Amino acid sequence: MLLVTGGAGYIGSHATRALAAAGHDVVVYDDLSEGFSDAVLGKPLVVGDILDTEKLQKTLKDHAVDAVLHFAARCYVGESMQKPDLYWRVNRDGTRSLLKAMAGAGVGKLVFSSTCAVYGVPDSVPMHEDTPHRPLSVYGETKAAMEGEIADSDVEAVVFRYFNAAGASSDAVLGERHDPETHLIPLALMAARDGATLTINGDDYPTPDGTCVRDYIHVMDLADAHVAGVQRLLAGNSGLTANLGSGRGYSVLEIVEAVRRVTGRPLATQVGPRRPGDPPALYARAERAESELGWRPQFTDIQVIVEHAWRALRD
Ligand code: UDP
Repeated sequence: MLLVTGGAGYIGSHATRALAAAGHDVVVYDDLSEGFSDAVLGKPLVVGDILDTEKLQKTLKDHAVDAVLHFAARCYVGESMQKPDLYWRVNRDGTRSLLKAMAGAGVGKLVFSSTCAVYGVPDSVPMHEDTPHRPLSVYGETKAAMEGEIADSDVEAVVFRYFNAAGASSDAVLGERHDPETHLIPLALMAARDGATLTINGDDYPTPDGTCVRDYIHVMDLADAHVAGVQRLLAGNSGLTANLGSGRGYSVLEIVEAVRRVTGRPLATQVGPRRPGDPPALYARAERAESELGWRPQFTDIQVIVEHAWRALRD
């Protein structure tokens, strides 16, 4: 049995579905602050707070859990700067609570959702796993602290540092539902749908077309990596830290073009100021996930990623 914290959220729900499809029994633990109960697709759901160590421990014991996948966290860079205490509490203290519950229940295997935000502005790209941690946001700081808590604990852990999660399940059953939405692809799709204007956050960066370059990785590929990660631990192998990215970057303008092609709509844009803290280009060196886990992203065509996001876009 596997416990998925945050399994009703965007990435957690795709992972829960992939784990079940791979034959694992799954129980989801989520406070539904950001997630949706219908996204667990009928799997057992325990509605609880990540800070409620007792409830977590009871859930681990009651369901005879063998390993945990920990997605539950606050995940907005901008919000983290406005509400740092919330981020330290839910993210770092929440991880402490989970680790304590796992120790109490005798569960020693963990797959953890981390982020390339722990790297901040790297000296060079692509970024590898040993790129120094210099997070720019409280969000990135708390994720680095969560990694630290896990490293200091006794659990065997697979730590994944995601680049820009994007897309949706190819059958449009699951998708990205953030409120408020801050991510480029859904915002561009919504603007195309509604005839609104997308603001491009700066076009004077030192990149080929002047707009920021990011590594967009399909959420179904992320989900598959989690299946491989937990299976590695269940087989008794050691943990590891690995980037999850495609290894190639797309600029904001390339995303805008992809959105126009996929939607067939004339997406209007305007250039606004740079967004504070935005590094010009971020993309992964992701060979470790391939060599250690045999994982390689299947959906590397940005058009396909945008198409899946478009099909799953809700009103
Ligand atoms: N971006 C933009 N307009 C928007 C939203 C995002 O130009 O309305 C840019 C953003 O500044 C960044 C890139 O798109 O350079 C990706 O942003 P997103 O928030 O999706 O992911 P991040 O890389 O910040 O995690």
